[in-house]
Amino acid sequence: MRIHRIIKSTFAEGYGKRYAIWTQGCTIRCKNCLNQQALAIDGGYELTIEALLEDIRTQSDIDGLTILGGEPFDQEEELASLCYEVKKMNLSIILFSGYQLDHLLQRKTTSVKTILDSIDLLIDGPYIEELTGEHPLLAGSSNQNLIYLTDYFKHLPYASKDLVEIRISKSGHIKVNGMFKYKELSKIWEGLYEL
Ligand code: SF4
Repeated sequence: MRIHRIIKSTFAEGYGKRYAIWTQGCTIRCKNCLNQQALAIDGGYELTIEALLEDIRTQSDIDGLTILGGEPFDQEEELASLCYEVKKMNLSIILFSGYQLDHLLQRKTTSVKTILDSIDLLIDGPYIEELTGEHPLLAGSSNQNLIYLTDYFKHLPYASKDLVEIRISKSGHIKVNGMFKYKELSKIWEGLYEL
């Protein structure tokens, strides 16, 4: 599977402590996508599903897996294998896609069926910059839908705030992840410059 980025333990990509995978490559190309480096199909790096699963298994205290993009469904078969096996580990799965659920169902492939049967929460739809004012938690723009495909998350109180994590490596590289509104990004960078 083509991978853009992995964070093995994060509290900012959905509910609880999660293993997060950003897939590499996206053919949707929303205007002013916030994840430009994940768009090129030949970017990132290749990792086998077996290696990914092995690494996920070593994270003994995570609540689940979150898959973001890039566009995960552009690697439909690999995604199906990953979701199927992770579900067998009794981990919850949150999946972000720029495709709407109707479009995915129209594909009528075994892979899409396996994915939708395996995941607990789908956040669907493209990113639309003009709709980034107020949006539901986890969504990037208000056109996106939170589709609960199992009851797993339904009993949880809706988390009250978007969360951001900032990682600063020993060499001074700064990485930001999490859920935040686009207009807040500049405030985050301003705060970091003041450190
Ligand atoms: S679907 Fe996601 S990764 Fe692809 S262009 Fe849209 S926002 Fe960017």
